[in-house]
Order: sequence, then structure tokens, then C-alpha cells
Amino acid sequence: MTTVPEFQTSPGMRDILPPESARWRRFVEVFAQVAESAGYGQVLSPLLEDLGVFQRIGDATDVVSKEMYDFVDKGGRHIALRPELTASICRAFVQHNPQMPWKIWYSGSMFRYEKPQRGRYRQFDQVGIEVLGADDPNLDVEIIALGWEFYAALGLQQVKLILNSLGEPDDRARYVQALKAYFEANLEELSPESRVTLEKNPLRVLDSKRPQDAALVAAAPRIAEFYSEQAAAHFAAVQAGLTALDIPFTVEPKLVRGLDYYRHTTFEYQGGTLDSAQNALGGGGRYDGLVEALGGKPTAGVGFALGLDRTLLACDDEGVFAPPSTAVDVFVVDTTGGAEALALTAQLRRAGLRADRAYENRSMKSQMKAADRSGAAIALIVGSNELEAGTVVVRPLRAEQVGDDTQSGQSVVARTDLLSHLTKVMS
Ligand code: AMP
Repeated sequence: MTTVPEFQTSPGMRDILPPESARWRRFVEVFAQVAESAGYGQVLSPLLEDLGVFQRIGDATDVVSKEMYDFVDKGGRHIALRPELTASICRAFVQHNPQMPWKIWYSGSMFRYEKPQRGRYRQFDQVGIEVLGADDPNLDVEIIALGWEFYAALGLQQVKLILNSLGEPDDRARYVQALKAYFEANLEELSPESRVTLEKNPLRVLDSKRPQDAALVAAAPRIAEFYSEQAAAHFAAVQAGLTALDIPFTVEPKLVRGLDYYRHTTFEYQGGTLDSAQNALGGGGRYDGLVEALGGKPTAGVGFALGLDRTLLACDDEGVFAPPSTAVDVFVVDTTGGAEALALTAQLRRAGLRADRAYENRSMKSQMKAADRSGAAIALIVGSNELEAGTVVVRPLRAEQVGDDTQSGQSVVARTDLLSHLTKVMS
């Protein structure tokens, strides 16, 4: 009978065990390769920040106003676990005053007190990039393309890119006015929930997925009608750039970001196989004023954050990006007590091979089972005969290796020749 352990992970939090954990690490490695190939450097930020860092920027969002994990530390500081990293990066930019454009990438865990479900957790991981100090539509294209290349590097084929522009801050303000007037004129048709949203943030009403709001939202004024010449030119340049790079996209006028800081380009990558409530794999856009809100000079910014957890669900659905092999190269079976296994594995590891062994001086049969389970290509067997003769039995463990130059499958090799023999066999 199995008993339920007293302590388990709290809701929305998970242990990531091998071999899945190897896939998580590889995910970040692939992202690092993509970002660093374009001149982005990694920033490692603290998990904790002054609560104010997030509040200053996102007080109007649920993420900051409702979902943050925060506490007062022993020094009386009001601290929050980061719900996202853009705010920390802007704080770091003001604090360290780096050369611009500052092109950085990051990865790590974020914390949001959300209702847990598939693809939505309270601790989840993101990778992302931000560029501070350059206002150029080519840069918007560059980062969108990097996200696109990253998904392609994972092997995903069903990712969709959704694009929009929020225009200049003035365009956006005029649009919000018009949107408010429109929804207010049709208030009785709007769902009660959206009426509350309208009070706080008219743009967010466009996010409503309630059937009652669908017709009204579909007929709402479009942001494009409010673009200034400059905003229209910026958006046209971004679209032209994406087209030149052969990156397909769909313009979605309802793709807005709630925060006042966002301007010009916004975008989202959607997984083709996931439920629509959880299909956002990642998203980003251009923002102004975040750096200023944290005490810096007005600085242009653009970036994205991609969710690791959800992207891996999409990989599972598409059957791509399987966990990398964590199998060792060789497994040492020692029936003479274990001292030989200790010495041999150390020697092999020093030579750069992945080597494992059995413990507790188990029987030959039991050790061979462990060797099989380890996924090793080769078992190295030392019994009393081999110990005396200074040799090792080299036995291939995978069917495809038997029948090459080893013929019968196994060979007896002098300890002194072992490394060169293994190098030959394994290549
Ligand atoms: P955001 O920072 O809200 O723009 O989210 C960017 C990406 O992070 C989303 O597209 C998701 O893939 C991922 N994400 C956000 N919140 C969660 C969550 N609670 N659980 C899992 N992934 C999340």
C-alpha cells in the first residue's frame, strides 16, 4: 500500500526530474545559442526585488496587483518574487548604466499566484531578450526573427506569429478614448465582467473571450484608424522586414497590451496545438518609459518573453525536441569487491568519458541489469580472472554494436590499452 507523503510540492509548483530536466537545460542552451549568435549577452538577476520595481511599472495589471508573491523581510523591506523580468532588466539598466544599445538575454523562474491548470503554473520559466536604447523598426524585426528562429531550432512547425502596432502614445490615447466612448454607448450589450474592465482599462475589453462580448468587440474601432504618419511608417517597416526575412505573420488589431508604456509593435507567438486559453507561447513588444519610471532617462526598449513550460507542451504535441540522452558511455561491472570499479570509473571520467557503476558489491547478474538500465553502450567487466591478468572484458550492450569488428560481441583488453581501445570502438 502506498501512503501519501506528508510534504508535497505546493499547488502550481513542480519538481522537474531527469530526464525531463535535461530537456529544460537544453532548451535554455538552444536559446542562448540563438541569442548570442546575434550579439546578446546574458544577465543573471536576483529572484527577489523591491516590490516597488514591479509596482512602479505594472500596477494596473493583474500580474502585479493580484498575483505577486510578496513579503516583508527581516530588515523591514517589502520584497516580491519576480513575476517577470523586464522590470528587473530596466532596474539593472538604470543601476549599471551600460553602453547602448544594451542587448541582453535571460532565463529563469517567475512566480505568479494564478489558478493552476495545464500550461499555467505558479512557478514557471521564461527565456527572453530585451534591447534598451535603440529605436529602430529593424530591431523589432530582429527580435521577432530571433524568437522565430528559436522555435524552428526546437523543431516546432506550427507556431503562428500575430502582430499589431499600438501606434505612438498620442495615437494610443486617442484610440483608448474612442474605444471607451464606443463601449459606453453600447454598455447594455457588454458582459458585467467587461463593464468592470472598461472602468479600469478599455483596451483590455478587447481581450474578452466571453461570447456575450464577441460581436461588440468585433465591431469595435480599430487602432489602425488612429495611427500617426510616423506610427504607420514604423509598422510598415516592421512588416516589410518580416516579409523580407520570409517570416509569415497575421496582423491582429485586437492584440493589445494593457500597459500605458507599450507603443508601436506588439506581437505574440501562438502554438498551433494548444487550447486557446493557453496557446500563447510567448510575446513581446516595444515599450517606452519603463526605464524612466525606475529613475532613468527616457529610453526606448523592445523585448519578448517566451514561456518554457508551455513551449515544451507544444513540443510534446508536435512530437519534437525530445529529452536529450542522459545515458552514460560505459558502465563498469566489478565482481571483485568494488575497488576496481572505483579506480576504473575515475580513470574513464578523467579521460572525458561518461562512466557509471554499480554499488554494494551486487551479483554479476544484478550489475549487468544495472548496466542495461544505464543506457551505456558498453559494459566493462572485471572479475577475479581479469583482476589477476590485468585485463577488462569489453562487452557491447546494444544490438547494433554486435557484429562489427567485435564479432562475438565482446573482447578482452589489457588495462593499459583500454582507453585507446574504447576510443576506437566508440567512434
Ligand atoms: P507574459 O510575461 O505574461 O507576457 O507571458 C509570456 C509567456 O510566459 C506566455 O506566453 C507564457 O508562455 C508564459 N507564461 C506566463 N504566465 C505563465 C504561467 N502562469 N504558467 C506558465 N507559463 C506562463
